[in-house]
Amino acid sequence: MSQTVNPTIILGGGFTGLFTALHLSHHKYPKPITLIDRCDRFSFNPMMYEYLSGEMSDEQVYPRYLDLLEGSKVRFVQDSVVSADLPQKCIRLASGLNYTYDNLVLALGSVGSFFGIEGAKEHTFLFRTGEQAIKLGRHLRECLQKATQTEDERQRRQLLTVAIVGAGASGVELAATLADLLPNWYQELGGNPEEIKIVLINRSYQILKGSGNSKNVENSIQDTAIDALKNRNISVDFLFGASVTQVYSDQVEYQKEGQIASLCAATIAWTAGVTANPLIKNLAVSEEYKTRRGYLLVKPTMQLPEYPEVFAGGDCALNSKDDLPQTAQVAYQEGKAIADNLLALAKGKELSEADVSLRGTLLKLGLGESVANLFDRYQIKGKLGHTIRNSTYLTLLPTPVHNFKATTSWLIDEIFEQYSNAA
Ligand SMILES: Cc1cc2nc3c(=O)[nH]c(=O)nc-3n(C[C@H](O)[C@H](O)[C@H](O)COP(=O)(O)OP(=O)(O)OC[C@H]3O[C@@H](n4cnc5c(N)ncnc54)[C@H](O)[C@@H]3O)c2cc1C
Repeated sequence: MSQTVNPTIILGGGFTGLFTALHLSHHKYPKPITLIDRCDRFSFNPMMYEYLSGEMSDEQVYPRYLDLLEGSKVRFVQDSVVSADLPQKCIRLASGLNYTYDNLVLALGSVGSFFGIEGAKEHTFLFRTGEQAIKLGRHLRECLQKATQTEDERQRRQLLTVAIVGAGASGVELAATLADLLPNWYQELGGNPEEIKIVLINRSYQILKGSGNSKNVENSIQDTAIDALKNRNISVDFLFGASVTQVYSDQVEYQKEGQIASLCAATIAWTAGVTANPLIKNLAVSEEYKTRRGYLLVKPTMQLPEYPEVFAGGDCALNSKDDLPQTAQVAYQEGKAIADNLLALAKGKELSEADVSLRGTLLKLGLGESVANLFDRYQIKGKLGHTIRNSTYLTLLPTPVHNFKATTSWLIDEIFEQYSNAA
């Protein structure tokens, strides 16, 4: 009697999950592969700013899974995962469907965290997916349009003020993009760009905590970013040392130096924090195999210590061997490592430890401007930094945008080759 082969199920089609699926398919994995995501499109997060600004199209950075996976042997299921019963090897979906697996990949990423601040969830814009980028873009255009129509100066000022909470990489990149973009958009409508105000709010006085703060590089990436934020089409205002205490639909209340104050803004974007996906937090995994904040601690092979048939990577997991940042660079390499180990398992071979390398810190600092801190030694700014950043990410774009890969991969290989030899 033939035994049923359960599919290898991949939960989450982000950098880890999608790259696991594509890699398995390219390498003729002998088992059925099912990829489950609640969205119908893959969000190429590092380039969401280009999507917002119109520098890139949805085909390039927000493509449909069905298009990406066409011709592969991956079956895509659009549904929300409700729970994963690891002891029973069973996945439950919002539609009521259940799946049983032999091997599972957990690649559900992280979720935005509002730290319990009243009104933050209801009244702020997140910027983590293509859908959220579209929503923010539409809202900003509406505000600019209304601002050109109102005679009320106070209302116009509010419509033209954008508050961005959090000065990590996402907050800084979003502020820099908007400080170039909104003046252009407003001018097209006949408005005065100088009336636009972008305010970056941060609890501490240090921005970009944990990003490329190397002593080997002459200028810190923080100094470069501050410089760039001051030199956009309009200068970004800094409100540092300010803890947000409450958010309303039209203002942010904060505490600074013991005083409560507020900032009126028709647009409030939230980039202040992330936390583990609730589904990951609720898994039947012993406390010793989770971090204090609920992320999974995996073995160097990316397996869960208590469930060797289950792999996890990207933002929902931490490799016990190294403490790598939650980035796309790490996530897709872990996806490839997971796929290699699933292929090894299928062939009865030994599993290998994931070997993940960081190319450096790459930040977008406005339209056509970026900074690249390479190998903890070299900092490249301006247009060349921008070319390096874009080339790096464009080479990662999954099918079917082969043209981009073809035109950029030579460039990035040349540049990285040159710098890695020198390092
Ligand atoms: C705006 C922004 C800019 C960024 N810029 C950079 C950058 O420049 N460089 C860099 O290296 N990194 C960057 N990052 C970080 C990078 O995007 C993440 O580290 C990376 O996406 C993590 O990959 P992942 O596969 O773990 O998770 P994700 O890519 O977040 O994918 C998780 C997937 O799981 C799905 N999912 C979640 N829960 C469920 C559920 N219950 N049911 C079904 N599906 C579910 C989601 O829809 C999503 O598709 C950026 C992130 C953001 C938000």
